[in-house]
Amino acid sequence: MEQGTLYIISTPIGNLEDITYRAVRVLSEVDCIASEDTRRACILLNHYNIKNRLTSYFEHNEKTKTATLIDLLKTGKNVALISEAGTPTISDPGYRIIAEAIKCEITVVPIPGACAAITALSVSGLPVHRFAFEGFLPPKTGKRKILFTKLADEERTLIFYESPYRICSALKDMIEILGDRKAVFAREITKLHEETLRGKLTEILEALESRKIKGEITLLVEGNTANTHN
Ligand code: SAM
Repeated sequence: MEQGTLYIISTPIGNLEDITYRAVRVLSEVDCIASEDTRRACILLNHYNIKNRLTSYFEHNEKTKTATLIDLLKTGKNVALISEAGTPTISDPGYRIIAEAIKCEITVVPIPGACAAITALSVSGLPVHRFAFEGFLPPKTGKRKILFTKLADEERTLIFYESPYRICSALKDMIEILGDRKAVFAREITKLHEETLRGKLTEILEALESRKIKGEITLLVEGNTANTHN
């Protein structure tokens, strides 16, 4: 029997219009959609009038769900994987099912779209020819400082995901270890309260310290330019 295809589909990171025609078509056509957050998936699917079978696939059921979905794919059914927002596997679940599908020689097809890291980078004004995506910062200052020490000589633009509750302490650690570099704070990209702050780390910290910060944040920091000859 011919095996089904596993589609890895990027969904919007805020604005529901940020999805491709192909993603909408494939989401309507597959036999099953596996989603990290079924509630959020419903909002997207309802918006596009997609009526399809939805099942959960998140960090804590990844192992058992992988086995179930792989069995489904082996019987010839097509499965789409979506995360809560953006591109699956980028600081999101998906790695396990993709690795297993590859092992079972199941075709894995990407349907590209939004990713907060790349979207923020595209408007950052920082060098984009080479960059390093670091994902979420460690929540505790000790581990954060160890990470920044390791990254201190990195010449590529650095991209981090960070929570609004820890952004100010993370900025303070960065200033201490990396120095007062150029940075970009991108919050709620594509959403109603979208905000982009560009400046030195100390300027961004000063702007944020006096207010309550809410929403989703991507932070970009310029690489080490000490040895850059212009
Ligand atoms: N898979 C997603 C992607 O492709 O970007 C990332 C998922 S990760 C669990 C969620 C984090 O991404 C948030 O905590 C935030 O750091 C960043 N993020 C997601 N949406 C964002 C947005 N609209 N604006 C800024 N950062 C965002």
